Amino acid sequence: MTDLSQTNQKLYEGKAKIIYATADPEVLITYFKDDATAFNAQKKGQIAEKGMVNCKVTTHLYRLLEKQGVATHLIEQTSDREIKVKRVDIVPLEVVVRNIAAGSLCKQTSIDLGTPLSPPLVEFYYKNDDLGDPLLTRDRIAAMQITTADQLDQLVSKAQTVNTLLTNFFSDCDIILIDFKLEFGTDANGTLLLADEISPDTCRLWDKTESDPQKRVMDKDRFRQDLGNVAEGYQAVLQRIMTQVEE
Ligand code: C5P
Repeated sequence: MTDLSQTNQKLYEGKAKIIYATADPEVLITYFKDDATAFNAQKKGQIAEKGMVNCKVTTHLYRLLEKQGVATHLIEQTSDREIKVKRVDIVPLEVVVRNIAAGSLCKQTSIDLGTPLSPPLVEFYYKNDDLGDPLLTRDRIAAMQITTADQLDQLVSKAQTVNTLLTNFFSDCDIILIDFKLEFGTDANGTLLLADEISPDTCRLWDKTESDPQKRVMDKDRFRQDLGNVAEGYQAVLQRIMTQVEE
């Protein structure tokens, strides 16, 4: 597989990915880096082979979702670290779904780590590093004119569908899907597509077979909390997904 990023024009470089142009203005290349950041880039590092793992994990999860009727921007994986995607205008919202309390929910509320959330929470954060990605309300989203009420309902419904599908899939991998972040964009026809990535960078994933609160963590929390064996956690997620896909 060739790295198109060697030859194509760079359009945008983010913390974990780079976007390249292709000859077709409606098609872009996403390149997955090993760079890792946390706490709004206050903590920086590298996770060995993360780009490869996240590229493969995203491809497999998007394929699984597409098969179940969830439209994504994925066209195909073109190299170990690259996917070809449809160009979308990104909706500047991070859509977070929480099945079990962790992370910022525990920091900002009285809810204890590990508390099951039924029904799962669907939350919106404003994608804006300068403002620290603040939690939004429906009214604030309307006041900011980020989406219409109808689009927001669509985002909630799509996020809930993705949650059901991924929770079941990860459960088959002996992994508990604690929470995750999604991004969406609109294509040239105005259709909402799932975009960005779904990977151990953007999900909390706990090993179902492990009860130790540190050992069970298989995601970016290993990096955020200096738990060690960060790359190993990512590799274990990929390996379980591949085993499940091949079965
Ligand atoms: O930090 P918080 O608990 O709000 O994160 C919820 C979920 O969203 C976690 O799985 C985290 O990895 C993901 N997330 C993300 N990108 C962000 C913020 C959160 O992928 N900018």
